[in-house]
Amino acid sequence: QYRCRSAFKLLEIDEKYGILRPGYSVLDCGASPGAWSQVAVRKVNAAGTDPECPRGTVVGVDLLHIAPLDGAHFLPCRDVTDPATHAELRGHLPGGRADVILSDMAPNACGLKELDHERLVTLCLSLLDLADQVLKPGGCMVCKCWDGALTSKLQQRLLSVFNNVKTVKPKASRKESSESYFLARHFKKT
Ligand code: SAM
Repeated sequence: QYRCRSAFKLLEIDEKYGILRPGYSVLDCGASPGAWSQVAVRKVNAAGTDPECPRGTVVGVDLLHIAPLDGAHFLPCRDVTDPATHAELRGHLPGGRADVILSDMAPNACGLKELDHERLVTLCLSLLDLADQVLKPGGCMVCKCWDGALTSKLQQRLLSVFNNVKTVKPKASRKESSESYFLARHFKKT
């Protein structure tokens, strides 16, 4: 039982692109209420459920409270754009590094489409600083975006640090929603 229907979007992305593997370290940004972390814990074997497979790590962070989840380590009441949070996150990842950064983050929508879009793009851009700190070379990132004037600028910025950037619109996203996800793979940091 997932905490939220959003789980099906990540399941769909993972089924198609195979981004979560046993033993991987995953950072889940905007993790509350925890459905993506539930998927990640299962896929990377973070609870050690499958003794035959390497055991991974899931660290989740959110401005809000997150109910505990076996196999995940949550940092609630944190702003992911705050450099102090970056340092703290590193401390919870093995070797201070993640294989995958997930972000289903969204600001509280004010209803003004362009303004909401700009605020979400700003959040996504801050993930590039985070990636610089924690993402392994070759690692990947998934981040939610709402369509708007800055979408292609964000895509360009992602392409400057990842070798491969795709736009993914999971079937589980409501048809009328302007939401899509960037899947950025092969982080170029050396
Ligand atoms: N993926 C989650 C799941 O499956 O349970 C749902 C995430 S929900 C759509 C978006 C979350 O992003 C909210 O809980 C919100 O508090 C969080 N968020 C927004 N801005 C944030 C920030 N600056 N730092 C951390 N979390 C943030």
